[in-house]
Formats: sequence, C-alpha cells, structure tokens
Amino acid sequence: MKKLDRSRNGLEKYRDLLISKRSELTSSLRAKLETLAAPDNAAPEDLAPVYHDQYVTVQLNHFDSMQLKMVDSALDRMDGGKYGLCTDCGESISGKRLEAIPWAVRCVSCQERRIPARESPQWVELVA
Ligand SMILES: [Zn+2]
Repeated sequence: MKKLDRSRNGLEKYRDLLISKRSELTSSLRAKLETLAAPDNAAPEDLAPVYHDQYVTVQLNHFDSMQLKMVDSALDRMDGGKYGLCTDCGESISGKRLEAIPWAVRCVSCQERRIPARESPQWVELVA
C-alpha cells in the first residue's frame, strides 16, 4: 500500500478537498433552510406535503450538518498534525481512502470492525 504523504505539501490536496466539501455543505444547508418556510398563502389541506417536506429537509440537514462537523474536525486534525492517522489504531489511513473520504477518521479495518458493533446509524455507512 502506498504510504500516505503526510508532509505539509502532501496534505494540501486533502485540505482543498475538505474545504470545497465544506463550502458545498454550507451552501446546500443554506439552500435547504430557505425551502423550509411554508408558503404564506397555503391552505391548511395543502400543508401536509409541506410538513412532510420539512421533515425530509430536517433529516437531510441533519446528515449535512453531521458531515460538516466531520469535515471541520478533519481540518482541525490537519492543523493539529493528526490528519490521516486512524483515531483507533494510530496507523496511517491510506491515501486512496482519504481521496474518497477526506474526512475519514479511521482506517478501513478499524471502520469495518466498528460498523457491526454500533447500532449502525445509516450515516456511518454513508460517510465511511
Ligand atoms: Zn485503524
């Protein structure tokens, strides 16, 4: 396995990935919040689908904000010099994995070990 280049220059591309993901998430969160407001002139019988949409939007926002938190903490780890190291075993996370999931906190084997043990919230699989 190619060792992850954890030098400052080697990490720059992950920082770029994280930063662009971050702005993508922030703008999509903002866009969804704007759609949250019910139309002023809606008749009560029209509101059921609106409430349903709001529910879905809140769920999606929840996922986005969770991902945003992971992106932020990845950037924090980068500043702290811990980026790319598995939080469980301390080994380097492979560059290939980080290219796919720049906010990954665990190496593949630790992540795989973890998923069945947890109550498998969906997002763990989505972000893993
Ligand atoms: Zn690990």
